[in-house]
Amino acid sequence: MISSSNCIFCLIASGQAPANCVHEDATTLAFMDVAPASDGHLLVIPRSHHESILDVDDGAITDVARAVQKMARAVQKALTPDGMRVSQFNGRAAGQTVFHYHVHVVPIRAGERPASHGRAAGDPDRIEAIAARIRASL
Ligand code: 5GP
Ligand code: ZN
Repeated sequence: MISSSNCIFCLIASGQAPANCVHEDATTLAFMDVAPASDGHLLVIPRSHHESILDVDDGAITDVARAVQKMARAVQKALTPDGMRVSQFNGRAAGQTVFHYHVHVVPIRAGERPASHGRAAGDPDRIEAIAARIRASL
């Protein structure tokens, strides 16, 4: 499916819903998670709508993988975390809450436990300050 009108990530991809975007290209988008697990938590999505890893097509999955690596490198340069979790959830039972295929990039600092993602909205000013550093590192 190209797009779904009741999918928040499709609305973000088409510019109909706001997001703090850090990178975009013809087929993918990277934006800051609104309820981050750690400072710098971002999401990478294909522009096209696929519910999960089970139905994302070959082109989209490889485009997203490349964009994830590009974003992980930018996060490393911008924020110098000690590590980074790159993760992806499929199906409600696995914790998926937005049914548009996406990959989380979560910077980790040694000794810090990341919060659960999607629970508490982050401070928009703090998120923007971090996003600006990531954009500058691309
Ligand atoms: P998952 O489906 O992999 O469990 O997580 C979905 C993620 O999307 C959560 O971390 C949540 O905070 C994030 N999210 C949900 N709605 C929005 C939104 O409208 N904008 C942004 N930027 N992130 C969102
Ligand atoms: Zn969608």
